Amino acid sequence: MPQGQPLTHRPEEERGLFERFWVAIFGSSQESDDLPRSSTLYWRNARISLRSPEQISATVDRWHCYLHPRARRVFALEQIEAILAIIARSVNADEDPIAPGSEDCVLWHGDLSVNEQSQLQAAICVVNKDRSKTIGFANRLLTFLFADDESYDIVRALPPTQDALPMACGNQLCVCLAHVAL
Ligand SMILES: [Zn+2]
Repeated sequence: MPQGQPLTHRPEEERGLFERFWVAIFGSSQESDDLPRSSTLYWRNARISLRSPEQISATVDRWHCYLHPRARRVFALEQIEAILAIIARSVNADEDPIAPGSEDCVLWHGDLSVNEQSQLQAAICVVNKDRSKTIGFANRLLTFLFADDESYDIVRALPPTQDALPMACGNQLCVCLAHVAL
């Protein structure tokens, strides 16, 4: 998926942006206090190479370059920093789900959730401005944060569902942005 397209400012779309955001990204505007299942046991046998705190900080700084301006209209800077840090912590240190040119799957070591078909999906917990928490599907959030307008318009046009976006690689625990099926 191409990234980094300049923002086309459409003021009429600013209204209700936050509400539409939750529907588009998480399929629901409902908040949840339920934490997703930890993936620790699931990944016991997987290769896990975590980023150091310094590597997380450097990665977050780098990903800011790819962030779409729509992300800053919904999230405060500290929320974006926190979300990017979660993503950086949830994939192997030598893997990047966001930078263009990724060919290989990037497996998610973070939280997991289940979709309507009881299939495991990569999940992420976002702390809202009012400190409530919302559990969402990682690939929907990644698409919101980084996809260009053309790709994101495709996602927004999809009917709301309680489901992650399908991955073209067939691995729903992959979070490589380029592998999202659009
Ligand atoms: Zn993949």
